[in-house]
Amino acid sequence: MLHGRTERNKRVFNVRLIAALVIPVLTVALGLTIFAFSALRGTASQADRVSVNRQEQEVKLAINDALDELAQSQAGVAIWSPLVLELRKPHPNWGWVDDNVGVWLNYVFAHDVDIILNADDKAVYVMRDGVRATPVSFAAYARAAQPLIEAARGRTHEAPNPHERLPGRALSATSTVRTSTRSIHATDLGVVMGRPAAMSVMRLIPDTSKVAAAPGREPLLVSIRYLDAGFTQNLVKLQSITGARVQRSHQLKPSEHGVTLVSSRGGNLGFFVWRPDRPGRAVWSSMAPSAGAALVALLAALGVLLFSVAKLMRKDAVSLRQLAAAHVELQAKEAQAHHLAYHDVLTGLPNRAHINAVIDHKVSDAHAERLWAVLLVDLDRFKQVNDTLGHAGGDQLIQLVSARLRGLINPGDVVARLGGDEFAILLDDRLNLSDIEETAQAMVDAVREPFAILGTSVFIGASIGIACAQSCRSDRTELMRMADIAMYRAKAEGRDGYRVFSTDMDESVKTRRGLEYDLRDALARKQELFVNYQPQMDGTGTQIIGLEALLRWQHPVRGLLSPDAFIPIAEETGLIRELGHFVLRDACDVARAWPSLSVAVNLSPVQFRSGDLAAEIRAIVQESGARPAQIELEVTESVLLDNDAVVRAVLAELRSAGFRIALDDFGTGYSSLSYLSKFQVDKIKIDRSFTSRLGEVDDAAAIIHAVVRLGHAMGLSVSAEGVETREQRAFLEGAGCNELQGFLFAEALPPASLAQLMKRLRYAA
Ligand code: C2E
Ligand code: CA
Ligand code: CA
Repeated sequence: MLHGRTERNKRVFNVRLIAALVIPVLTVALGLTIFAFSALRGTASQADRVSVNRQEQEVKLAINDALDELAQSQAGVAIWSPLVLELRKPHPNWGWVDDNVGVWLNYVFAHDVDIILNADDKAVYVMRDGVRATPVSFAAYARAAQPLIEAARGRTHEAPNPHERLPGRALSATSTVRTSTRSIHATDLGVVMGRPAAMSVMRLIPDTSKVAAAPGREPLLVSIRYLDAGFTQNLVKLQSITGARVQRSHQLKPSEHGVTLVSSRGGNLGFFVWRPDRPGRAVWSSMAPSAGAALVALLAALGVLLFSVAKLMRKDAVSLRQLAAAHVELQAKEAQAHHLAYHDVLTGLPNRAHINAVIDHKVSDAHAERLWAVLLVDLDRFKQVNDTLGHAGGDQLIQLVSARLRGLINPGDVVARLGGDEFAILLDDRLNLSDIEETAQAMVDAVREPFAILGTSVFIGASIGIACAQSCRSDRTELMRMADIAMYRAKAEGRDGYRVFSTDMDESVKTRRGLEYDLRDALARKQELFVNYQPQMDGTGTQIIGLEALLRWQHPVRGLLSPDAFIPIAEETGLIRELGHFVLRDACDVARAWPSLSVAVNLSPVQFRSGDLAAEIRAIVQESGARPAQIELEVTESVLLDNDAVVRAVLAELRSAGFRIALDDFGTGYSSLSYLSKFQVDKIKIDRSFTSRLGEVDDAAAIIHAVVRLGHAMGLSVSAEGVETREQRAFLEGAGCNELQGFLFAEALPPASLAQLMKRLRYAA
């Protein structure tokens, strides 16, 4: 997978490299090369063109010069009296003519043919290639020479030819002829015997007035110089023109260049062909290999450069990727660290630091107009689960509770775990207090539902304290403190419920701190604390059948304190266990002193959660020498509602040990007897709130009737507390209550006063 990714990265990188570097560089290199080569090529062919043009001009000039030279060379003998006179002789001396005209012109001026015509245009002398020929041989040249003869005689009037000097015709502006002003000649290019040639026909005239002229009847000198022989060889020597030749056909080799030979009288005579000097091509062909080699070297260098740049870039890309990966990793670690710093490892919930920050933010939010609240949740009986199921079970329970709590909040709310079995919850933006209370109650209900842990059902509860905040009047610590107080109040008032903070709680909290300290001290010194006993009468209220042990604290400063003022503190601080033992010991002593009476002892729900309660009670009772059957243990509904296997086991063990169990304060909790069937109790004590309402509220009597009937139906003894009036006593007696207890009979008294009390009650009865 990782390998695949790097492969893909490599491919992507290569494609990018090719697109970003290789293609542009190669394009530029190729473009430059093409440009350089075409520029070189252009320059070369330009140079070649210039060179060819120059040579072409030279060739044309040479041909013109040849024509002019031909005429000039003729003029040397044509305007010469001795020749005119010699030719006028009936038998001229042709040897003399050879020496002075024919051979001279042939050798010195390289004429190929020289012919002398008489006045009738008949050949009288022919010199060809330095050898005199018979005059008849002129016939071969006659046709080619005829137009020039006609012109030289002045018989034709054609367009002016720059090489001619003809009678009655001025020299043209382009004339090149440099013959004597007296010479008359027609000079032109033509084809002689199928060969291109320069041809000139000049009148032979005397150079002195001593010899009479013969106008129109002068002999003519016809001179021919072939262009394809000596002429071209001379040209080659003079102008360094290579491979020159003259041909009739227009077929050229690629390396050759040709100039058309045109006579001024019209007509294509053939071509002067040569291999023009091409310096550009020479430079090109000499440079091309080295340029090619240079280019190859350049490309190779470029390739090497590209390769090393690519390598560098790939290295860079790799390190960039590594850097990016490292960055991502760092971010992940940072996020993880941040998460760890702000979250609870076990539940994944935000932790204390997190919710502190959230609450701080919320407190400083000036726009928060709607109600919001901080909830502190403490689990009831969590320690018990931890003790019995171990840490794994405890952890699992915390996780399950977290999930349930989280399932009950709105988006924007926060559930945080503060540690142990404590949670803090921010409920944001609520309509009113009952909105908040509804959520709190839902949480209490949710936690009350059984949890399946390690194969067993576990029942716990939650005590929730609520601190509401609507304005910025309070800060976070203050809110947390308020929620904390409310939560302890919820715990103190029977657990498994919520309480909303109110200012009066605050006061009680302050005193509570002091009381806790003092209670510890009192317990340690075994002073200030003592137990009073309230008589329990039979159903008629005439006979004492039992006593209830009620704890008292003679506080040095606060005076005599009722158990309601310090039992909750003892429960919260764990002092209740020791306190319970203290009361039980005292009760056992009283039981032994009054063997005919039962002695009732109140057990706090908290005592069921600490250690082995049944064993402790049995040990104390046994130690004191009292009979368990004489001891009645009063528990509250909340203990039974725990529906806990441990509670059930403790109660069962105590009953089987001979202790009787009484359900205290009946009716204040769930007003339901359904759970009674699950627990083995011996007695129910109707709470004094029902008794006190007798005569005031109609349904109180109805409830008492119903409870008594139900209790009896279940085989339970039914007791009524708080009997203060005779009417109450009468009603309860009539309702069938088995026992009566209240100030009507007696308050709780020190044991020392009990004997006197017995006498008084017996007397009163
Ligand atoms: P409780 O168990 O319901 O005890 C009866 C309470 O009602 C006692 O208050 C008693 O003084 C009061 N009382 C009795 N007859 C009347 C009456 O006719 N009218 C009125 N108004 N009150 C009457 P006390 O002693 O202040 O005890 C309060 C509670 O403290 C008890 O309620 C019990 O729950 C708890 N308590 C007392 N002693 C102990 C103890 O040793 N251990 C534990 N765990 N709890 C104790
Ligand atoms: Ca009681
Ligand atoms: Ca009671």
